[in-house]
Amino acid sequence: MKARIVTLPGDGVGPEVTAAAVAVLDAVAEHFGHEFSYEEHLIGGCAIDATGEPLPAASLEACKSADAVLLGAVGGPKWSDPHAPVRPEQGLLALRAALGVYANLRPLQVHPALAALSPLKNEKLKHVDVLFVRELTGGAYFGAKTRTTDTATDECKYTVAEVERVTRRAFELARGRRHKVTSVDKANVLETSRLWRSTVQRVAADYPDVKLEHQLVDSMAMLLLTQPSHYDVVVTENLFGDILTDEAAALAGSLGLLPSASLGEGKAGLYEPIHGSAPDIAGKGVANPVGAILSAAMLLRHSLGLEHEAVAIEAAVADVLERGPHTRDIGGQAGTDAVRDAVLVAFEVHA
Ligand code: ATP
Ligand code: MG
Repeated sequence: MKARIVTLPGDGVGPEVTAAAVAVLDAVAEHFGHEFSYEEHLIGGCAIDATGEPLPAASLEACKSADAVLLGAVGGPKWSDPHAPVRPEQGLLALRAALGVYANLRPLQVHPALAALSPLKNEKLKHVDVLFVRELTGGAYFGAKTRTTDTATDECKYTVAEVERVTRRAFELARGRRHKVTSVDKANVLETSRLWRSTVQRVAADYPDVKLEHQLVDSMAMLLLTQPSHYDVVVTENLFGDILTDEAAALAGSLGLLPSASLGEGKAGLYEPIHGSAPDIAGKGVANPVGAILSAAMLLRHSLGLEHEAVAIEAAVADVLERGPHTRDIGGQAGTDAVRDAVLVAFEVHA
């Protein structure tokens, strides 16, 4: 098949890990006879330096017409002054909004070989396989903000339509997994959460084959640590999802391991590792490329419908996590390129 992929390497380790992910996509194209074309564009701090804007019009236009977008990371100390007129993160928020990607999928698996790196005891980590579905376009991130000298407000708003579309996505995904959805809210305190809960409840009636449970976000923060293997699909609003998925990432052993997909109505999507620009290790060739490579696998699955290819990449990554080489964040000595090359070799075995 033919596909047009826009790459947005961005800042910090973004270019290093994106290059590794593109190398893996190239191997997929070569092995299976697909034609992927890539168009590279600016976003984030590097875009501010070059054009004064965190999301230049050329980048946005290219992303809007692409089959999929592969992003590295944005931000870094050079642009982190909170009073700066423009910030790199604005580019990413604007891109998500413009693409209409409302469902952020963050799968969490704990590889047995890395269980020792996790803060939990090994037996708790057996069979952890959670898919977080975080709402991405509403809530406190996008509500009106006010500020006087001694008072600040952040409006948190959700519409039934916003809750319904992300909930449906979560239930559909649960049907391809273990048929269980946990909806996380704070319905004992927040009105948005009561709307969230009643909407989820109503949507659930259309999916009688999927088991639904509700959890309050404070309980969920605890339960993720005490019984992580209980969960299948976890759906929640923007802010709760942001916090819970960072907590969950700690269970995997390193932020560098986890991928994400942001999806809207169509097939196009935005794919990025969940880690940030990691300025402390940028430019050294030591960043873990696994999160970016697994994001490329999600791109193949969700935007291009290439499930077999996605599974082959995931199997290759699992081999490398099992046998090494490992980057420093997971206790090894290897650089980004050595891990990439090992994944490429393992891919040929699984393809
Ligand atoms: P940002 O503001 O862009 O999120 P940050 O300073 O919060 O940047 P993160 O990217 O969130 O940095 O990373 C947090 C920690 O995890 C850092 O110590 C970083 O080195 C490490 N880390 C993140 N990504 C990777 C990776 N791909 N490989 C190895 N270590 C990583
Ligand atoms: Mg960070």
